Amino acid sequence: MATPIPSRQLFINGEWREPVLKKRIPIINPATEETIGDIPAATAEDVELAVDAARKALARDKGKDWASASGAVRAKYLRAIAAKVTERKSELAKLESIDCGKPLEEAAWDIDDVAGCFEYYADLAEALDAKQKAPVSLPMENFKSYVLREPIGVVGLITPWNYPMLMAVWKVAPALAAGCAAILKPSELASVTCLELADICKEVGLPSGVLNILTGLGPEAGAPLASHPHVDKIAFTGSSVTGSKIMTAAAQMLKPVTLELGGKSPIVVFEDVDLDKAAEWTLFGCFWTNGQICSATSRLIVHKYILDNISQESIAAEFLDKLVKWAKNIKVSDPFEEGCRLGPLVSGGQYEKILKFISNAKIEGATILYGGARPQHLKKGFFVEPTIITDITTSMEIWREEVFGPVLCVKTFSTEDEAIELANDTHYGLGAAAISNDLERCDRVSKSFQAGVVWINCSQPCFCQAPWGGKKRSGFGRELGEWGLDNYLSVKQVTQYVSDEPW
Ligand code: NAD
Repeated sequence: MATPIPSRQLFINGEWREPVLKKRIPIINPATEETIGDIPAATAEDVELAVDAARKALARDKGKDWASASGAVRAKYLRAIAAKVTERKSELAKLESIDCGKPLEEAAWDIDDVAGCFEYYADLAEALDAKQKAPVSLPMENFKSYVLREPIGVVGLITPWNYPMLMAVWKVAPALAAGCAAILKPSELASVTCLELADICKEVGLPSGVLNILTGLGPEAGAPLASHPHVDKIAFTGSSVTGSKIMTAAAQMLKPVTLELGGKSPIVVFEDVDLDKAAEWTLFGCFWTNGQICSATSRLIVHKYILDNISQESIAAEFLDKLVKWAKNIKVSDPFEEGCRLGPLVSGGQYEKILKFISNAKIEGATILYGGARPQHLKKGFFVEPTIITDITTSMEIWREEVFGPVLCVKTFSTEDEAIELANDTHYGLGAAAISNDLERCDRVSKSFQAGVVWINCSQPCFCQAPWGGKKRSGFGRELGEWGLDNYLSVKQVTQYVSDEPW
């Protein structure tokens, strides 16, 4: 099915604008390896223009500027954007799917979540009005104090390619709700739907400069944004390596940052589970979005019995048999095909990287229980089979590093303590899942997991009302929920002397 890619420019000050250096980046369909269009490539010159436009959006006459508009006014725009996203859902889902390779059905869920996120933050923008001038109780009667919650200013939002529109909107919606003006820099590997977001903002008449969208390469467009002296905050989602560079750049300006980084999340399957349900969540938790999820539960830690010093891997063996049987039934195909569950990886670079991880695992002595290669029926495209790897030691690269592809590593445990130790044996700390019918045990395990997000008897569900973010090298700060809005607000104390008595 041909899906024409709209030809777009950068979105600066409410207008389409050709990049100053007129550079463009090709868009490759990862399922066919064909070039299907291109996106504009911004550089430092365009970042200057966008920062200038954003600053002006916050500095118009009082009342006409975005920052001092009421939350209710901002909410109207956010709801209008949500409505347009919903109206264009089918087209946006197709563009997302062809651009980053995720199955069309999953792309459609993402677009629903995009609209839901705008609606949610519209509600919070409205609620913000009532929270202004919140009194602070003081121990002295001759003083009165209250708190103003003000937008932080101009914010730079730098995002990845695995949920191109949704990851952008997790930042754009709360930033705009808070009254900030934003410059979004999506990933060069998948920017098409973010440029459509620009089109939607234009359609609903979002005031100029409030949201600027600069597509382009990380070092050319992202880096000058991160280090710009007139950008007040950076919110970043991407790899830990880039996160560290962003933090270094921000540190030069003492600029606040929130970082949503990589992961290597565990899923612990205890002995008392319904194996079918556990298998379903294990496969979904690792292979959804072609395994390219920051929180993918890509380390399976499954129970085995040890009785009288004889290892009886009954649960583990039966469970693995089931996983392999089911993995064989996962349809790997063009993401537009009916029933597709695993599409291509986003790029040739990612494809090579994942195959290298698999071959290194073999060299280190691991066993590829299933998959590990390109599916034979697909001659073109960046496809990798769902892959299950066993005989892993905790020092192996495949156990320690984020693969960001459809690769599940398996280890077994016999005691709860051992399971927790294995689960926490990582420098990442984004997600963790436990599957068990013993809810007291689940409570205990939730407290012991070193992760920002814990799933019990499931893996991956994510709601825009609940906080999202990591510990350890998975980053810091929280997105979504009220925490997501707080990222873009600055709290100001106003204290007044109210007594007639001399101080
Ligand atoms: P990446 O770090 O390569 O790129 C992310 C963004 O940073 C892109 O827009 C890129 O152009 C930009 N960038 C690259 N170099 C830059 C620089 N020097 N200065 C400024 N910007 C720069 O990550 P990716 O490959 O796009 O995304 C995959 C990674 O994102 C994985 O590690 C994944 O775990 C992580 N991720 C995390 C979350 C989360 O919520 N924690 C969500 C999605 C993805």
